[in-house]
Amino acid sequence: MKRILVTGGAGFIGSHLCERLLDQGHEVLCVDNFYTGARRNVAHLLANSNFELMRHDVTFPLFVEVDEIYNLACPASPIHYQYDPVQTTKTSVHGAINMLGLAKRRRAKIFQASTSEVYGDPTVHPQPEEYWGNVNPIGFRSCYDEGKRCAETLFFDYHRQHKVRIKVARIFNTYGPRMHPNDGRVVSNFIVQALKGEPITLYGDGLQTRSFCFVDDLVEGFLRLMDTGDEVTGPINLGNPGEFTMRELAEKVVELTGTGSDIEHRPLPQDDPKQRQPNIDKAREVLGWQPTIQLEEGLRKTIAYFDGLLSGPAAA
Ligand code: NAD
Ligand code: UDP
Ligand code: UDP
Repeated sequence: MKRILVTGGAGFIGSHLCERLLDQGHEVLCVDNFYTGARRNVAHLLANSNFELMRHDVTFPLFVEVDEIYNLACPASPIHYQYDPVQTTKTSVHGAINMLGLAKRRRAKIFQASTSEVYGDPTVHPQPEEYWGNVNPIGFRSCYDEGKRCAETLFFDYHRQHKVRIKVARIFNTYGPRMHPNDGRVVSNFIVQALKGEPITLYGDGLQTRSFCFVDDLVEGFLRLMDTGDEVTGPINLGNPGEFTMRELAEKVVELTGTGSDIEHRPLPQDDPKQRQPNIDKAREVLGWQPTIQLEEGLRKTIAYFDGLLSGPAAA
């Protein structure tokens, strides 16, 4: 049994990770400032004596005694990370410094939730880990993209300079239960719109692509990466290579929800990447990992979650 710190543990992915780690018998310290996360995401874990929830902002130092760290703290949806872009960069950069300082002091293994956004608007498809990316340093998405890139730099410098054991995962679009209904990401938007019978907002011509990984598959990838020997640092892509256009996604959501909603076109946001698909050869080879949950099955589970949320007492 280990003592494991999960920053951003009350968020969408973090809450699933806390759940899995507790299932494995570990002690979990969930640290979150509830910027985009919510107590309700981990409410079902509070009765577990191995679980501890602490309100804390990772841009400030944190002195706790843990064996492993999963650093997930950072708003992930464009609406949230662009709301206070300075805080977004601070969270990625100062948060990484503090968590790396903690890992260094504790000689703890540390996992970083990096992102496919480090590839920016890629000119190489699909993106292998060796690709350096095509990122606008001064645009609206830069606080997130460059913050995450700088965090990666810090991880590799702490590794080379201080021998910190690092595990860097580049996560591609992930979806599933406990996504925020209002965070503007495409899967939650389309499902909520369909369930409410509102128009489905397709940005641009809808021919841009994304590859969607179901959250349970992703968390399995995290655990496998954390379990590797010290020679494995990453970065390693984690995502589902199944690539879909946003039009296809909209049509699938309409079909699965049986909604009468129409698909309406809206302007494409600035710097919106045209195509994104992970190359997961490395994850297959090093972790023996690949996603097992196909889009339709994952969408059904996510639709069921939002259906419950929208018809539950909180919706009234
Ligand atoms: P989320 O917004 O649900 O979770 C992020 C959590 O971090 C929230 O609980 C939030 O309150 C917390 N947080 C934010 N700033 C903080 C701070 N300064 N101190 C402490 N806690 C703070 O997002 P998510 O989708 O669960 O993403 C988790 C991680 O995975 C993020 O680092 C994100 O960048 C990364 N990621 C997610 C995706 C995706 O598709 N969901 C893709 C790539 C990378
Ligand atoms: N830090 C922390 N928890 C710890 C150890 C360090 O939050 O258990 C912070 C520390 O306050 C510092 C940062 O991590 O701001 C980086 O630590 P490091 O030891 O690398 O740098 P230094 O303290 O020498 O500036
Ligand atoms: N998108 C859309 N309608 C929406 C929300 C998003 O068509 O209501 C598009 C968006 O323009 C982008 C894709 O869906 O091309 C994925 O957007 P999201 O914000 O989920 O993720 P990211 O752009 O960060 O990959």
